[in-house]
Amino acid sequence: MKDKHLITTAIAYGNAAPHIGHAFEFVTADTISRFYKITGEDVYFITGMDEHGQKIEQKAKESNTPVQEFVDMNAKSFLDLDKNLSVDYDFFVRTSDKEKHYLGAQALWKKLVDAGTIEKRKYKALYCIGCEEFKRDVDLNEKGECPLHLTKPEIVEEENYFFKLSQYTNQIKEKISSDELKIYPQSRKNEIMALLDRGLEDVSFSRPKSKVSWGIPVPDDDTQVMYVWCDALSNYITAIGYGTDKFDEERWANTTHIIGKDILRFHAAIWPAMLIASGLPLPKRILVHGFITSGGQKMSKTLGNVLDPQEILKMFESPAGELAGEALRFILLHEIPSFEDGDLTMDTIKASYTAHLANGIGNLTSRIMKMSATHLSEGIRPDEIVLPTDYKKAFESYDTKRALEFVVKEVKELDGYIQSSEPFKLVKVDEEKGKEIIKEMRIKLYNIARLLQPFIPKTSDLIKSYVKDNSMPEKPLFNRLA
Ligand SMILES: [Zn+2]
Repeated sequence: MKDKHLITTAIAYGNAAPHIGHAFEFVTADTISRFYKITGEDVYFITGMDEHGQKIEQKAKESNTPVQEFVDMNAKSFLDLDKNLSVDYDFFVRTSDKEKHYLGAQALWKKLVDAGTIEKRKYKALYCIGCEEFKRDVDLNEKGECPLHLTKPEIVEEENYFFKLSQYTNQIKEKISSDELKIYPQSRKNEIMALLDRGLEDVSFSRPKSKVSWGIPVPDDDTQVMYVWCDALSNYITAIGYGTDKFDEERWANTTHIIGKDILRFHAAIWPAMLIASGLPLPKRILVHGFITSGGQKMSKTLGNVLDPQEILKMFESPAGELAGEALRFILLHEIPSFEDGDLTMDTIKASYTAHLANGIGNLTSRIMKMSATHLSEGIRPDEIVLPTDYKKAFESYDTKRALEFVVKEVKELDGYIQSSEPFKLVKVDEEKGKEIIKEMRIKLYNIARLLQPFIPKTSDLIKSYVKDNSMPEKPLFNRLA
């Protein structure tokens, strides 16, 4: 029996085009999804957009665009990036989808009302529009400003629905400390446990429609729209039919969330509480990645160190052609740690491309297939292999970087074997022995292509087809950078 599995990225906020951190999260999730597919699991992989809220409403207004049009435009840039990076999702959620998503989010809201966990309260607090978040005094800097936006939050006095998050603190603590909901890496588990030890506060769960109109209407109260929690987090279940009789609870119970470290509290405290309150199982695991800096600094327009994924793709278009997306996939997965912050600059991007793709995988393929096409008469279809233990173990701990490093090591070893055995010379003095070594190398190359499949699927397929057809690439897979 195949295991049913759901893999999710966070849904990206639809106020701007995707940045390099999005690209990293998408290819990480896609690689894990592809690995599970290889091992025979029944994987459903979702990604998408979080498209509501005051910030988007304002940005659309500033650019004189109807809100729906504004989010459609940003959604398109994410869909394009996914396509260029071969991100093979099964469903792309959009929270502005009035049918599937509204239906499920409203069903979840009603479930929470029925459970007695939502109530209306008068509320006076500080609110940062930039963060779209209510702030406590401890969240602000010494000038009383939001430390992220350096603006004073506005005082908001309104009547909202509240979700009684505080009463779930102990249950969530139990689930996370026992690893029933497993947080990767351990340092992030420690972080959320410390937060739970301090106790959770109830959270505002709606906004008055008079202030924010761009949102999902609260059921049975046309003066309020949902705040981000029920609106956005619910995407993970509405995507697989929550609110209809098609909801796949078995799949839901085996979910892997892949998120950035800045939204750990949402996913490891608020979301589990909502699920417990509505009687749903919790996800199995949350994989938390870090941020990408450039030259040791946060990327910013002022510093001029912003790495735009679309620009990097453009740079690889001429040397790598159709494989430009594969180049960016490889670099992100090989250079950025799976669970910690990483650093990338244009120089390290180029160096990684040259060392591992132009000189590494690309050159290895050309050398072996040239010998094969010259000296052997037909291609082969090698037998299935058992995945190497170290590779499998790395994937089982969701360390995609370590798994890819294993493959890179295999590439180097095979390259070294060509140098030491020199079959292109040997075949002239001992034809049979020379051919045997070329055959052996071809099988090894094929097996490397198999291991590369989750990371750079198009490259993997190409290499496999050369081995099967006994042909060589007409031009290098990855040409040198100009
Ligand atoms: Zn802020």
